[in-house]
Amino acid sequence: MKPYFYRNILFETITMKKYIFLSFLFGLMVIFAIAQEKINVVVIGAHPDDCDIDAGGTAIQFSESGHNVLFVSVTNGDAGHHKKGGGALAKIRTAEAQEAGKRFGVKYIVLDNHDGELMPTLEIRLNLIRLIREWNADIVIGPRPNDYHPDHRNTAILIQDAAYMVIVPNIAPDTPPLKRNPVFLYTEDRFQKPTPFQADIAVDISEVLDQKIYAMSAHKSQFFEWLPWTSGRLDEVPETEEARIDWLKNWRKPRLNDKIKQSLAKWYGEEKTKSIEYAEAFEICEYGRRPSEEEIRKLFPMINQ
Ligand SMILES: [Zn+2]
Repeated sequence: MKPYFYRNILFETITMKKYIFLSFLFGLMVIFAIAQEKINVVVIGAHPDDCDIDAGGTAIQFSESGHNVLFVSVTNGDAGHHKKGGGALAKIRTAEAQEAGKRFGVKYIVLDNHDGELMPTLEIRLNLIRLIREWNADIVIGPRPNDYHPDHRNTAILIQDAAYMVIVPNIAPDTPPLKRNPVFLYTEDRFQKPTPFQADIAVDISEVLDQKIYAMSAHKSQFFEWLPWTSGRLDEVPETEEARIDWLKNWRKPRLNDKIKQSLAKWYGEEKTKSIEYAEAFEICEYGRRPSEEEIRKLFPMINQ
């Protein structure tokens, strides 16, 4: 039998080895957890189909990498048709949004506010604050406040007014506040006044464009009825679903401009940018958290792949 002193050293050595092994295991688990950390994204649009058009390709890439995306339509779309309207149309559009949500791999919520009559009320602002908090959002995406459509403008105001307030505990105290302000981003538009859109972030969606168009095509009442009617193209809409999707792609595929190409070159490098055909771009809103370049790369992991 070994003397007590040696037994004790032996015991301590084994305990130390166990300790080192457990620390190593714990370290690995932490690294794994950080690598697996989910990014929570909320995209807010005025109408059921706005989120899809503006950020659908980016949403698909978040969702396919296991991150959580919520689409919110602030109105129920009950004015968006030339033959149908009211509650019956809202029902159709909500069902279309649910189908689109499945195709995008996102949760789609349609709020019951009238289309074409949206006002930036306190009630809707608080509702959005609660939704952003419940989703534990890291990123919130929505339209800029200068736009042809009053619902788009008022949606932008509602989102801007929710930024910062999402961290204030005394506002909507029934829903715990976020610990830090999310990054708020604007989606691309063509309006020049008072300031043109600035492409701070651009995401390559070339590989998912077909998926995006297929998911968008779930909004049948919009892309094959209402929107062609408003632009005098109703007679162009093909009969079969396959032909309709091709037609929609040709009509609604995003076009690259110089600003977006410059932004792509910044994020993806000059060489890779040459092969990028389609992208979605975002402008950083000054009322949310101001992310560093390093943080943007963490929040948009698809940029680094
Ligand atoms: Zn819209």
